[in-house]
Amino acid sequence: MNSNIVFIALGTNLGDREENIRKAIQKIGKLPKTAIIKSSSIINTKPVGITNQPDFLNCVVQIKTILDPEKLLLELLKIEREMGRIRKQKWGPRIIDMDILFFNNEIINTQDLTVPHPEILNRKFVLTSMKEIAPEFVHPIEKKTMERLYKE
Ligand code: ATP
Ligand code: CA
Ligand code: CA
Repeated sequence: MNSNIVFIALGTNLGDREENIRKAIQKIGKLPKTAIIKSSSIINTKPVGITNQPDFLNCVVQIKTILDPEKLLLELLKIEREMGRIRKQKWGPRIIDMDILFFNNEIINTQDLTVPHPEILNRKFVLTSMKEIAPEFVHPIEKKTMERLYKE
């Protein structure tokens, strides 16, 4: 069995935010041949881009899965829909958002998927959470550990 190590960022700023995070992680863990390995602490963050919206709760989970990147993305988008996310404005308020940060050490640039996620270096919570659960993990493009990227 070919299993992949994947890091997923979760974010929510509508409704019962703690419950949204909990439910989303539970649903990820129930995907076929997928297991949650680690979850970071949950952090409260101020919105970026569109700043007149509620604060977010964010965290990162590390999973092991046999799903390929495209299939995993489809499953995550499906969970977002099941949980009632309605897509309006980019970076606007949402019940749940799940972004694939890293997929093994792969670099993916397709119509639907950019991995590593292009905003990793601009989002402090991502680096804080990655440093917490995988300090030695190396960014495949930057060639630097999470620990180092966090400090920079
Ligand atoms: P951002 O990606 O800057 O955080 P966002 O999360 O608000 O913005 P969405 O509206 O949730 O953006 O996603 C739009 C599309 O982004 C998805 O339908 C998906 O095809 C695409 N996408 C590209 N790369 C990724 C990735 N690494 N993880 C998740 N979605 C991605
Ligand atoms: Ca996002
Ligand atoms: Ca997203």
